[in-house]
Amino acid sequence: MLLGVQGRVLSPLTFSNIRGRMAKRFLQEFKATVSGVIEEAKQGNFVAKNFEQRMAICYKCTQYDTRGWCKSCGCYLKVKAQVAGAKCPLGLWK
Ligand code: SF4
Repeated sequence: MLLGVQGRVLSPLTFSNIRGRMAKRFLQEFKATVSGVIEEAKQGNFVAKNFEQRMAICYKCTQYDTRGWCKSCGCYLKVKAQVAGAKCPLGLWK
């Protein structure tokens, strides 16, 4: 039995839709990250110089989960924030 918000029982179809949306969002984020990485790599930038600033923003963000993942894009932030071309899905990184 799968429980959703406020203990409601989710049907397998609903659970499948949620997983489908999460997978679609993850793929969109993955494509955006890869294209950003390629653009930065063309300029010789691979490692973000502003890792600490990015993480400071993430630590205060409502989408940050305490295990280090972003609830919005599904990425592990201590890795993503080091990648020069990576972008915050909400545009909070400057
Ligand atoms: S990547 Fe963006 S949305 Fe995700 S936790 Fe960091 S600041 Fe928040």
